[in-house]
Amino acid sequence: MLQSFKPTFMLNSLYDLDAEQLAYFGIKNILTDLDNTLLPWNNKKPDDRLRLWLQKMTKAGIKVIVVSNNSAQRVDIALEELGMPFIARAMKPTVKGIKEALTTYHLNPDETVMVGDQLITDVCSGNRAGIRTILVKPLVNSDAWNTLMNRFMEHYLFKVLKRNFTGLEWRDKLTLPPDQQR
Ligand SMILES: [Mg+2]
Repeated sequence: MLQSFKPTFMLNSLYDLDAEQLAYFGIKNILTDLDNTLLPWNNKKPDDRLRLWLQKMTKAGIKVIVVSNNSAQRVDIALEELGMPFIARAMKPTVKGIKEALTTYHLNPDETVMVGDQLITDVCSGNRAGIRTILVKPLVNSDAWNTLMNRFMEHYLFKVLKRNFTGLEWRDKLTLPPDQQR
């Protein structure tokens, strides 16, 4: 049970991901949460940082697909100028959106990672779908998704995970906890 909330990797930001690290871990496809992972929840317009990072990923042949619980309309408003592929109404923490992304875009699960700022939705759905997961810090600290209860649950869960697993530290590059390194 607890295992399904444990991220494979922890990273300060999605934007720390580069082609070299992804190649090292055999990752060719990135499924990413939208709010507070790709864009701050309160600023839904793509900025230069996102544009530049996407260009780098495209150049490296890495597919980036948004998997969001938001409606298609909301996701589209945020991403239309970038023409990014997305799955809306993903129903995280269920595996629905992730399975849909894997099928629609013909992705090999072993080469795909789910990135997001929430254990309860993003990490849990990725783990349950059988792909690797990356927990990132939220881009903005106070956000709309979070009722106080939700925020409280995330903090509590993180504390429990840290008590039960080693190596759960924020990093600026993909690194496996010592007990999982090959
Ligand atoms: Mg989020």
